[in-house]
Amino acid sequence: MLRCTGCGERFPILEIRYRCDQCNALLEVDTDLEAMRKARKPSEWKELFQERLGHFRPPYASGVWRYHEWILPQIPVERIVTKLEGSTPLYSGETLRRSLDAPAVFIKHEGENPTLSFKDRGMTVGVSWARHIQSKAVICASTGDTSAAMAAYASEVPGLRGIVLLPRDKVTFEQLAQPIASGCLTLALDTDFDGCMRVLQEFCQRHPVYVLNSLNPIRIEGQKTIGIETLQQLQWQPPDWFVIPVGNAGNISALGKGLLEARELGLIDRLPRIAGVQVEAANPLYLSYKNGFREAVSVEAGQTLASAIRIGQPVSYHKAAKVIQQLDGVVEEVGEQAIMDAKARVDACGVSICPNSGAAVAGYLKLRTAGIIGRDERVVLIATAHGAKFSQSTLDYHRSELSGITPRGANPVQPLAATLEAVEQATGFVRTS
Ligand SMILES: *Cc1c(COP(=O)(O)O)cnc(C)c1O
Ligand SMILES: [Zn+2]
Repeated sequence: MLRCTGCGERFPILEIRYRCDQCNALLEVDTDLEAMRKARKPSEWKELFQERLGHFRPPYASGVWRYHEWILPQIPVERIVTKLEGSTPLYSGETLRRSLDAPAVFIKHEGENPTLSFKDRGMTVGVSWARHIQSKAVICASTGDTSAAMAAYASEVPGLRGIVLLPRDKVTFEQLAQPIASGCLTLALDTDFDGCMRVLQEFCQRHPVYVLNSLNPIRIEGQKTIGIETLQQLQWQPPDWFVIPVGNAGNISALGKGLLEARELGLIDRLPRIAGVQVEAANPLYLSYKNGFREAVSVEAGQTLASAIRIGQPVSYHKAAKVIQQLDGVVEEVGEQAIMDAKARVDACGVSICPNSGAAVAGYLKLRTAGIIGRDERVVLIATAHGAKFSQSTLDYHRSELSGITPRGANPVQPLAATLEAVEQATGFVRTS
């Protein structure tokens, strides 16, 4: 069943519906935890999930479908469209821990998914469902990564059209190349993300297309697995905190839903806290948090290098506000300089992240300075996309070409003559004979 997050009204899961017709709030999948509890004890679920780590083939080799019963038991295995997404690393290397002066910090790297962002976790479920309900077309508005993921999954399904609406000139080069290469109809609209979203909502009220933005409750179920898989990687010993960048607020809602369900199922015995991080240029959730979530704030999103979270009117505001309160969470905001310096620090430890993920790291550091997160606390920072999708800002940073930013971690390329002597001089190696 689908359940309204506003008034609690329930709808059959097979109905294509994104909002409640009573109160217009978003819907969520009412996961049947009772059925799961009846089927297996917590220790037996853990054993099953552990046993599936030994699989090489679909569906259980996927870090989403490993949790099939918890995600979408309604879908038969043979309808699943998967690229074996998930199973992403939890980095905690020595250089990283030293660089952040954090003995118990982890980076859950969702950029190491098939299309290089966490959106694959949602899309494997969303596109599988589109195939199950025999949709002819899927559509999304995107700040870049949603469209890349949707296009790549949709192009695996015969007869399924993919349509993406992008804000013109507001996604990176690499992100733009992805849906084009996947053969998806790619429309660059002369507006920002919020403008694309408005057009999409009008379009889909009139035409039979399946919407794969994060207002889609089925997609959110796939994204729940970021937190769930992290818990499994930590042997079900929950961290003290998860820190996550926030744009449209679907992912933080999904993270919270998964953690709360893990607690209800008895797989963990206490709840982690969560910290959502926004950029100063697009900080509506931060402003709402500051007013105690008394009212939803919307802003016009300004220029930011963290372009994937350049969103002024988060569609999942109410869901996010609720999980933040349930998980004793906080929301922080960070500026461009802090984002790029934090990204450079993590990049330099061999973990390539994007500016949006840099915002999460910068937010973490700011919360440390404020004394809200302690140095020794166990913290999972969620990196949402790979640095390779944002090479322009990385190069510009290291060349000191980002206006208004003084790169503290710059490592510029050094042009050099093609001689032994020049290389010796540049490297500091001295000839002994
Ligand atoms: C989509 C996206 C986000 C934001 O997720 P929301 O669910 O919109 O809050 C953050 N980082 C990256 C890289 C993304 O692609
Ligand atoms: Zn309702």
